[in-house]
Amino acid sequence: MAFTKQTVRDIDLKGKRVLLRVDYNVPLENGQVASDYRITESIPTIEYLLEKGCSLVLMSHLGRPDGKSDPKYSLKPVAEELAKCLSKPVQFAGDCLGTNALMAAQSLAPGNILLLENLRYYPEEEKNDKEFAKKLSAYGEVFVQDAFGVVHRAHASTDAITEFLPSVAGLLLEKEVDTITEVIENPTRPLMAIIGGAKISDKIKVIEKFIEIADFIAIGGAMANTFLLAEGIEVGKSLAVKEDVPLAKEIIASAKAKAKKQPFVFYLPQDGVVATSLDAPRSTRIVDWDAQVIADIESYPKVPKESASKVAADESILDIGPFSGSFIAGGAQLAGTVVWNGTMGVTETDGLNNDPVGPFAHGTEVIIDGLTGQFGHRPFTVVGGGDTVAYIEERKLTKAFNHVSTGGGASLELMEGKELPGVAALPDKKKTLEKSDTIKHKKK
Ligand code: ADP
Ligand code: MG
Repeated sequence: MAFTKQTVRDIDLKGKRVLLRVDYNVPLENGQVASDYRITESIPTIEYLLEKGCSLVLMSHLGRPDGKSDPKYSLKPVAEELAKCLSKPVQFAGDCLGTNALMAAQSLAPGNILLLENLRYYPEEEKNDKEFAKKLSAYGEVFVQDAFGVVHRAHASTDAITEFLPSVAGLLLEKEVDTITEVIENPTRPLMAIIGGAKISDKIKVIEKFIEIADFIAIGGAMANTFLLAEGIEVGKSLAVKEDVPLAKEIIASAKAKAKKQPFVFYLPQDGVVATSLDAPRSTRIVDWDAQVIADIESYPKVPKESASKVAADESILDIGPFSGSFIAGGAQLAGTVVWNGTMGVTETDGLNNDPVGPFAHGTEVIIDGLTGQFGHRPFTVVGGGDTVAYIEERKLTKAFNHVSTGGGASLELMEGKELPGVAALPDKKKTLEKSDTIKHKKK
């Protein structure tokens, strides 16, 4: 289903002062933007508006300053980074409210850009406060929503604001919703979902959705540990959620039921990379609890020790093993579409000499290879999840995928089929005459 809301292409924006909600909630390191993906993804809309002779007032949140001014969460470094990306000056207002910001906004000439300070310095933003939204609305003549990463929240800058200004979607919001909706509603099959990351409970609805619609589901990351517990496999000190074991059992049962009726694979890791600690110096080993191939080969002609297929009480599974990684990447060679959300292991741990591929990132790496054509086939790929995308950015691989979402929670909720309040608040496209109507008309 195509995007049904009005976009910047549907209204006359010539020479208008535009209030543009962007998602510049980017990671900062030492006061500088550590990853500019969300900024570069906002540029097509900004350039489109500049071409129309608009002046732009940009607003965003950054982090969780909990309704108080906190320099740690200032958007000032973002203004500098945006200026670099656009090769154009970007003014910065040190407060998103107040006469200074208003005067700066009102004196913008066509082509000028002003970024307001963090909206979440005010608790009213997350409370969807009308008075706050009304004050923000004074900055522009039109509101453009392009912050896909926050449209799953009803906040002043995503919901209430639309009551005070004519409102439309930006090009990034349209692209995100179109692409993600299309892979859920009308994917090129076979459809594969690779779900990893921290907790089952975060992604339960999406797993259920994919059991309904996918042909192949592979589970990795810490959430796999809870499924392994459900299968009676010992996971030592691994991050796992005991309370979610019944839920994991239900999911496994519904996956089995589907597999009886039609070709369908629900894959849990058969081996893992384990260690007693995340900290250096770390030594790692592979535990092969299911396939039991690697230890057989390595121990031959002796019988492998029991420990080869058992996670010890003081060990944690911190990545999927090479057998599982290859299996999943192999599955992707037959897929038409792959939706991937959640890392396969603890990708944040850097390797020796700051190598971005750390000791628990090999599983995620082989998935990346499988999805980006390193084994021959390149399925249509849609990737989401804050940590997953952060890793892909760190590896400078965002362009190797078809769609790398700027929204974590928003992309999950969209896949689940939930209504996104920040999208729902925008007006629908005006109905145009159906093609068939025009033809009928001509015949008369
Ligand atoms: P995303 O943000 O991509 O949706 P999540 O937030 O669900 O992903 O999960 C990512 C987090 O899960 C990362 O912090 C990663 O270190 C952690 N993680 C992945 N696998 C494991 C594991 N086996 N043990 C502990 N933590 C893990
Ligand atoms: Mg995360």
